[in-house]
Amino acid sequence: MPQLETINVALAGNPNVGKSTVFNALTGLKQHTGNWPGKTVESAVGECKTQYEGRELRIVLHDLPGTYSLISHSAEEEVARDYICFEKPDVTLVVVDATCLERNLNLCLQVMELCPKVIVCVNLADEAKRKKIYIDTKRLSALLGAPVCLTSARSNTGLKELLEQTAALALSEDPGRCRRIDYGPVMDVALNMVEQRLPEQAAGLPSRWLALTLLEGEGTPQVERQTGIDFSAFPVLQEALEEGRYLLEKSGIPREKQKDKIVSSLVEEAGKIVGETVSLGKANYNSRDRKIDQIVTSKHWGFPIMLLLLGLIFWITVSAANYPSGLLSSLFGFWEGELEKFCLSLEAPGWVTGLFVQGIFRTLGWVISVMLPPMAIFFPLFTILEDLGYLPRIAFNLDNYFRKAHACGKQALTICQGFGCNAVGVTGCRIISSPRERLIAILTNTFVPCNGRFPTLIAIITMYFTAGLTGVFRSVAGAALLVGVILLGIFLTLVVSRLLSQTVLRGVPSTFTLELPPYRRPQVGKILVRSFLDRTLFVLGRAVAVAAPAGAVIWLMANVQIGDASILTHCASFLDPFARLIGLDGYLLMAFLLGFPANEIVIPIVIMCYLSTGQMMDITDLSLLRDVFTQNGWTVVTAVCTMLFSLVHFPCATTLLTIRKETKSLKWTLLAFFLPLCLGILLCAVTANVMRLFL
Ligand code: GDP
Repeated sequence: MPQLETINVALAGNPNVGKSTVFNALTGLKQHTGNWPGKTVESAVGECKTQYEGRELRIVLHDLPGTYSLISHSAEEEVARDYICFEKPDVTLVVVDATCLERNLNLCLQVMELCPKVIVCVNLADEAKRKKIYIDTKRLSALLGAPVCLTSARSNTGLKELLEQTAALALSEDPGRCRRIDYGPVMDVALNMVEQRLPEQAAGLPSRWLALTLLEGEGTPQVERQTGIDFSAFPVLQEALEEGRYLLEKSGIPREKQKDKIVSSLVEEAGKIVGETVSLGKANYNSRDRKIDQIVTSKHWGFPIMLLLLGLIFWITVSAANYPSGLLSSLFGFWEGELEKFCLSLEAPGWVTGLFVQGIFRTLGWVISVMLPPMAIFFPLFTILEDLGYLPRIAFNLDNYFRKAHACGKQALTICQGFGCNAVGVTGCRIISSPRERLIAILTNTFVPCNGRFPTLIAIITMYFTAGLTGVFRSVAGAALLVGVILLGIFLTLVVSRLLSQTVLRGVPSTFTLELPPYRRPQVGKILVRSFLDRTLFVLGRAVAVAAPAGAVIWLMANVQIGDASILTHCASFLDPFARLIGLDGYLLMAFLLGFPANEIVIPIVIMCYLSTGQMMDITDLSLLRDVFTQNGWTVVTAVCTMLFSLVHFPCATTLLTIRKETKSLKWTLLAFFLPLCLGILLCAVTANVMRLFL
């Protein structure tokens, strides 16, 4: 057997150019793909095997986060740049969008300055063809001095050649050399001066890039950290830097303008290359998209269309989820009966049946039958919007509001991710480059209800606010109320963002360029499969993993008696006076506390407490449930306050852990816990007392 040779390939590119699609097609892994910039925030690794000239190769692909450039200091840019510079992949594969080559070449040229072996994958060739954009790949390859492959990753076209060329480049004896971008004569002199005086320890690093970084100075501490080289200890280098800066200053390029100079040189070079390689069959090839955008992002229509689409998704979710929920619930009820019979036949002690069947199994049944159907409907619908390219338009529409709140418009995209799961939303905040704005987005992400909280909201809306309606009116009213709750969440996000930016996170909002990607036809089949496997099962799996032990704990608390009452009742009585103050009751507050591992178990705990049977009841009929709640003192005030508290309280354990990981700070994690909690308590207390005055 010939020995396997390993080739490390970094996959770089602007967001939304099909990088994940290329990665998936080559490795068979299932990275999440979607039509909006900034969703790959963590780098994934996958591999594939191939042969080249009789040699067996293992190609390890490192999917780097999508970035527009490598010169600023956002989290993803640092990940991408550091990987290329310090991990030294054998080849860097840059994926570019054939329909907007000029903008994409900007990054490509920067990567070529860092990495001696680059291959360019011009993807979305099918879209370019449809738009009558023709690219002379041979000429492009000659001008760039790198191999170029034309691909349509979605239909697997051109990927075999891409793999072959990658292997050829990696195995070629020629070590290649980094591209030297023309930054103009003065900059050239300054750079050469610094490059020649770089210390020996920096020998393996791309010298021109290093010279650029040191001259400008902002990135120096980071390079020093990464390389362990203290550049200030080299007087000759320091002299060269001072001389270079003086030269640049004299010719009108002071340090703060150097980045602009770099960008304009890149734009010029990309423009020249595109001028020689791209020809357009139709001048206004994206006029259809622009026309749609004029409506979808217009002042008058942008907002109503957004609400309508959101309402439509919720309406479909609310009205279609009931039937399968009932079905699943009776199925679990049946299995539960069977399990009980089985335990009886084994003559198992009562506590075993109680703990495992009425505790763990019943909780699981509840969580699955209540959560699975709405998720299985909501996620694919939302993914269709994502694949279509609608999400960046939401960010565009909301940008103005976020800017007024001194935050970043991209926060809207992280809010969209929060609908699925707040932990995912928090990770998604990495697309925001300003650390101040990223923190604001992280701290406020829990104000949008995640999937674990939707069932609670839907159940309360159905029981208390739409019960008198029938048929389609009922589901439409339910969806409208749900949209209202979400709008309240977004309103709170804006208010709190503004508050934070005027207090602990002071600063001015940064400007950002958010690309409005072309609308693309969603791949419905793929969406169904992927959203079910990647999202629905993922969230459900997490819920189940938490619900099972929680079910056991709750059963024990409800069944272990101290004095004349169970532990659960003791705790609830202790909490009751405070809970009443905020419109809840002791059991409800207890349920929220016990729901810390996963929000989806809040309502099941409440039901179990109310029925005081020591076990969760199988309730599929919401009108019966309403009776149980009303007998336990629920009024409209309780319903409103429970919804409010469900929307605004502490983040769940997973989200909090993610916040800790993302901020690397206990202080911000604690703030992320107490900020929504205090706000929720305040909101509920005010609402409850005002409502009690009038009702
Ligand atoms: P990434 O952000 O660069 O990782 O981009 P994705 O892989 O998520 O792709 C963005 C969108 O472009 C998705 O909707 C893909 O289905 C779509 N896409 C990717 N490659 C192609 C292609 O070759 N042709 C067409 N028409 N669409 C593609």
